[in-house]
Amino acid sequence: MSQKTKTVTVLGATGSVGAATLDIVRQQQVALGKKSVSIKALTAGSNWQELAKISIEFEPDFVALSDVSNEKKLRAALSGTGIQIAVGKKAIEEAAQLDADWVMAAITGSAGLPSILTAAKRGCTLALANKESLVCAGPLLMSLCADNDTTLLPVDSEHNAIFQVFDATRRNTVEKITLTASGGPFRNWSLEEIALATPAQAIAHPVWSMGAKISVDSASLMNKGLELIEARHLFDVSPDKLEILVHPQSVVHGMVQYKDGSILAQLGPPDMRVPIASAWAWPDRIEMSGDRLSLAKLGRLDFEIPDETRFPALRLARYAMEMGANACNALSAANEIAVASFLQEEIKFVEINEVVDFVLSCINKNTDMWLGEPDCIEEVFEIDKIARRTAQQFIIDEIR
Ligand code: NAD
Ligand code: MG
Repeated sequence: MSQKTKTVTVLGATGSVGAATLDIVRQQQVALGKKSVSIKALTAGSNWQELAKISIEFEPDFVALSDVSNEKKLRAALSGTGIQIAVGKKAIEEAAQLDADWVMAAITGSAGLPSILTAAKRGCTLALANKESLVCAGPLLMSLCADNDTTLLPVDSEHNAIFQVFDATRRNTVEKITLTASGGPFRNWSLEEIALATPAQAIAHPVWSMGAKISVDSASLMNKGLELIEARHLFDVSPDKLEILVHPQSVVHGMVQYKDGSILAQLGPPDMRVPIASAWAWPDRIEMSGDRLSLAKLGRLDFEIPDETRFPALRLARYAMEMGANACNALSAANEIAVASFLQEEIKFVEINEVVDFVLSCINKNTDMWLGEPDCIEEVFEIDKIARRTAQQFIIDEIR
């Protein structure tokens, strides 16, 4: 019997998760034949060289580059291939609109949101790596998926782990959900040392190899704060049922504790290809090459409670969750601005949280507009804009 071709789009194809996804495509094409996977679209922000390279290898129907300034170079690199090329922000949404069965959402930050909403509305299997979309617009995104028969599969390793052991048919039996955190590069650093951390030190993650923004978030533990909010929406649980444990070996990715005292956990090597492969084949499983986890070699697994004095981001994320979805959106937008500023060496590492804290405190003073949930997507974009502006202004007036 001939096998059905799987049609695939990768949004954010030139990044770390994008590359891991394309590696799985490569492995599938070797195992099942080139025609087993057909790439509808690949997209990138500004890295036109990498986009051209992977497009020549994977022969997508369509490529989209957000950064318009490199259009000519991309067109020259792909001339004669027959691949359709589009540039600009809208081009990314056009890519998401194409009728791929399986879409990987791996653009960083809220820039990924419009294309994610487009794919969700179309009805597809949406493998979601981009956590910021759930943090910014969780209730809207979840209901769009439900209304349009979109199967949302979490790719973030902790959420993918929890998804694998979460009994969605008996959610009233769930007592607690645990997300693990590696603790990042500053796990054992003092407050004074953390204060002076450089971008290079923040990006040097001890276990995972990831893009710059999420690496800085992992160092501040804001990544785990965003993941708390992500888990709240994905699994529809109240914040008091969500726990974070620092687990430096990063092999237990997530756990669900049930009301009889049983705990189910998912373990695996710290390699994003494992959760991506799970989302690729779900509810089936595919053969994957790569390192296997050896618990005997590892010998021990450590767990500790995160230190919120040295890593206040967790407290800020819980505070935003208490205030509601609009505050979570503002938290994420302010964090994006602060992280970008830190990466450009305009502010210190500890000041990232100060920026976020300031934006949340502004919300508190102006409660009418911010508290609660957005009624529509325009409100999400509006809050994102105001939070970014507020964060930017605070950096200019108070820090720089
Ligand atoms: P990355 O920086 O390596 O790649 C980001 C991708 O998005 C690139 O293809 C880039 O060109 C594209 N992009 C960036 N800005 C854009 C814009 N404004 N418009 C259009 N495209 C844009 O990031 P990553 O580490 O692959 O992470 C991607 C997403 O997955 C993030 O939301 C991150 O939180 C999430 N995630 C990543 C990992 C990981 O291990 N890397 C794990 C879990 C979740
Ligand atoms: Mg994660």
